[in-house]
Amino acid sequence: MNALAATSRNFRQASKLLGLDSKLEKSLLIPFREIKVECTIPKDDGSLVSFIGFRVQHDNARGPMKGGIRYHPEVDPDEVNALAQLMTWKTAVAAVPYGGAKGGIGCSPGDLSSSELERLTRVFTQKIHDLIGTHTDVPAPDMGTNAQTMAWILDEYSKFHGHSPAVVTGKPIDLGGSLGRDAATGRGVVFATESLLAEHGKSISGSTFVVQGFGNVGSWAASLIHERGGKVIAIGDVTGSIKNNNGIDVPALIKHKSGGGALKDFSGAEAMDSKDLLVHECDVLLPCALGGVLNRENAPHVKAKFVVEAANHPTDPEADEILAKKEVVVLPDIYANSGGVIVSYFEWVQNIQGFMWDEEKVNMELKKYMNNAFNNIKHMCKSHDCNLRMGAFTLGVNRVARATLLRGWEA
Ligand code: GLU
Repeated sequence: MNALAATSRNFRQASKLLGLDSKLEKSLLIPFREIKVECTIPKDDGSLVSFIGFRVQHDNARGPMKGGIRYHPEVDPDEVNALAQLMTWKTAVAAVPYGGAKGGIGCSPGDLSSSELERLTRVFTQKIHDLIGTHTDVPAPDMGTNAQTMAWILDEYSKFHGHSPAVVTGKPIDLGGSLGRDAATGRGVVFATESLLAEHGKSISGSTFVVQGFGNVGSWAASLIHERGGKVIAIGDVTGSIKNNNGIDVPALIKHKSGGGALKDFSGAEAMDSKDLLVHECDVLLPCALGGVLNRENAPHVKAKFVVEAANHPTDPEADEILAKKEVVVLPDIYANSGGVIVSYFEWVQNIQGFMWDEEKVNMELKKYMNNAFNNIKHMCKSHDCNLRMGAFTLGVNRVARATLLRGWEA
């Protein structure tokens, strides 16, 4: 099932549990606006190359639309649509005053030079600048983009609209970024995991972890788990997978990777087949990379007791059903990885206030938001007698539905 069909199916289930009116349900599902633009740039050798860029603005009932911009070869309109919808529910679950959006360009960023990426980002910004803004739609980094990408968007946008630091989040600190934003998604994943394990009388220090994806989210999550005494026993990324039953020395692995080394060449672990990673014996499985990685083929073989969805939509609905039958507890993406957008909100607030918080305050507030959301999800699970995914969806969808009804429909 593709990402959009899966996300819409989860939404419909939540809408049913909430007893939403069918017209309201339809209006919540259809995106507010879908943008598709052609971006042609000269390559470094002078030849021209064209890419397609997307921005889907899903809903703005609760505030400005918010969500990342992804550079990846698999970016397509359906996927961006699904991710935009997920952002609407995610910001509502987190109780930050935003709607949802997502953007992307179908490209392989690794094959483009830094100046080609800069040109592409600037052309994309030129095409969408009049549709984004501090109080309309605020982009952020996602897969294949980073603080530098946000700096280029900010610079290009400011040529049209004057200096506007709050038009993007996830910026470099020197341009108004927030302390703690870089680690925020991974840190939020760890706070979420702590709450989940505590519910089951367990803790990070007494558990074993498998981490799929060692980019921004996976490496921060693994490193904070290691810091808390948790044992990360297997890690994989696009270059390969490694395992060590005594626990991988995550800081040493980060050092190895930053020196340009591939995971499989790390001396403190042995190489393993990447297709065994998701079904490796462990307490907690953390998919931190692409969507759809848990499916009906591998779900029956998953041995983890808990799956924490650090990536967006890593579990397709068929896998969800299989995991439920096996009594594997799945902590859903729209809660588990919301730390990024929560600290994006803090960054936006700091930019608007013109006042910078210290990192301790950022991390403390993040923990507060994550814990509140967890308690609110548990409350929904009780009232609707449902699993954590539906607890999170009913919480988010209900908040957006209430905001929509309060605004009213009169033209
Ligand atoms: N790209 C991140 C996400 O999927 C962060 C979005 C944001 O900060 O706006 O949640």
